[in-house]
Amino acid sequence: KSKDLQGYAPICLGLEDFYTRRLYLRIQDCFGRPIASAPDAWFDVVERYSNDNNKTLHRTENISKCLNLGSYNYLGFAASDEYCTPRVVESLKRYSSSTCSVRVDGGTTKLHIELEELVARFVGKPASLVFGMGYVTNSAIIPVIMGKGGLIISDSLNHNSIVNGARGSGATVRVFQHNSPSHLEEVLREQIANGQPRTHRPWKKIIVIVEGIYSMEGELCKLPEIIAVCKKYKAYTYLDEAHSIGAVGKSGRGVCELLGVDTADVDIMMGTFTKSFGSCGGYIAASKEIIQYLKFTCPAHLYATSMSAPAVQQAISSMKVILGEDGSNRGAQKLTRIRENSNFFRSELQKMGFEVLGDNDSPVMPIMLYNPAKIPAFSRECLRQNVAVVTVAFPATPLLLARARICISASHTREDLIKGLEVISKVGDLVGIKYFPVEPEKK
Ligand code: PMP
Repeated sequence: KSKDLQGYAPICLGLEDFYTRRLYLRIQDCFGRPIASAPDAWFDVVERYSNDNNKTLHRTENISKCLNLGSYNYLGFAASDEYCTPRVVESLKRYSSSTCSVRVDGGTTKLHIELEELVARFVGKPASLVFGMGYVTNSAIIPVIMGKGGLIISDSLNHNSIVNGARGSGATVRVFQHNSPSHLEEVLREQIANGQPRTHRPWKKIIVIVEGIYSMEGELCKLPEIIAVCKKYKAYTYLDEAHSIGAVGKSGRGVCELLGVDTADVDIMMGTFTKSFGSCGGYIAASKEIIQYLKFTCPAHLYATSMSAPAVQQAISSMKVILGEDGSNRGAQKLTRIRENSNFFRSELQKMGFEVLGDNDSPVMPIMLYNPAKIPAFSRECLRQNVAVVTVAFPATPLLLARARICISASHTREDLIKGLEVISKVGDLVGIKYFPVEPEKK
């Protein structure tokens, strides 16, 4: 019942099931209700998204229009788009909402082939393969390329889909400290030598898995340094670009473009269509040999119903806009806009005294709350003022590192951002999360 929570939150942390790692957290509000049922604190059921590129949404109750600061809709392609939407509607008429077939038995349309060629060209790899879900792309591919006798070295903050894929693969899994090339090198050295002379290499193959932008940190991968270590120790690299593809880089080609990395140095490039492209599904882009191998061996390719055609069409159309192949320069404008919006919002939050994680140019901006009991208060007060933010805590983050995660979109106007900042500032004062108070300027 601490004062800084304005009578809201406190607090009971119940840690259950520790040994099975299904550890989860129960935070109760002052009436003893788990926060999952804290009234008015969440926007877990959405009545509808507005017809304005997902910039606002309508909550179920009181149908108020909220500024959406939580969507992965980085380039604003979700909902209506003058180029994408008519084509998606056309593809729905032509191919219906589901192929109702697996890829190898009638579930491959011309659109699937077109998307795979386009993705390969877009990310700069010889070939690609698409899947109906981003999550499954990781969790099903990793066990196909890695198995017993192999070593996976995974960043400690990698997404759950990677963690699950690695665990299910049967390979040995080691974790290196988040975004630390020097610790990666330590782990590699230890694993390769393994008490033996350096010439002895006990693993069939070694793969290092990282993300382009870390989804809970907003941080860019130290990719050039990590690649240098992988080359030195002859390890393969696997890069998940769910949050970076389309969102960063001069022409939207992700962290490789932004950080000047040659895509030939990344063996497997994974990404999703659910963020910058406003669609559904995921892809793997790699050498022709690897893609061919996946086509013959990956159960998620052989036995799962293929990506729905309208979703494929949405990914194709939005990618063409980004490439300028729609005959306009809207793609370039969106890329400039998301960069400017992100850098503006981040620097304003910092000026207000918030602790904001992540790097410049990244549209993902976690504001640290630390105490998980501040989550319902923060979310509820923002919603009351018609701003929807996503709050995250354990197990998506370490236990005492709860945060609100802002995602910026190219479809936000400067007025939207200023409104969002005003609300967040007021709520930040109320909940007590301005950890770096700024001295007022002396006149
Ligand atoms: N990888 C990362 C890094 C992610 O953040 C996510 C989900 N946000 C996924 C994979 C899974 O993608 P999807 O939501 O498209 O299934």
